[in-house]
Amino acid sequence: MTQQSKKSKIPKMKLELVKSTDPILRRRTADVHLDLLRSSYLADLIASMTEISRGFEGIAANQVGINLRLAIVQRVTSDPWILINPVIVSFGESQKTELEGCLNFRWTQRRKRRSKNLILATLDLDGQPNYYDVSGMAARIVQHEVDHLKGKIITDR
Ligand SMILES: [Zn+2]
Repeated sequence: MTQQSKKSKIPKMKLELVKSTDPILRRRTADVHLDLLRSSYLADLIASMTEISRGFEGIAANQVGINLRLAIVQRVTSDPWILINPVIVSFGESQKTELEGCLNFRWTQRRKRRSKNLILATLDLDGQPNYYDVSGMAARIVQHEVDHLKGKIITDR
């Protein structure tokens, strides 16, 4: 008789941050399809991205080599804020310049001029669009992550 592993849990996805030179960081990511929303794949991906970005501001899927328009914003709400196919609908007029870092560019910081507030549309896990009035640190993080999803990185102008 063969001994089978009794493990019932699917092993968590093993993801790593890609190198700063990885071309996936320069490509526009693909929309998350609605049929993926309630999949265990997406749940595992979100769990893994949440783990990797723990203690930091946020992460976009292409930063770990996944070509999907998915990002997580940390430290703004008590739970990680999951952005699915996020769109910045409008930017507030007032801007602020601050130093920003990035998980794929550990030793790099750039002064980035960003809108202090914006309106964000993002899907929830039921595929419904929700609109948020985002300001302060959260607005900065959202702009950084949405840039990633468009293939833009902090060293770009
Ligand atoms: Zn980044």
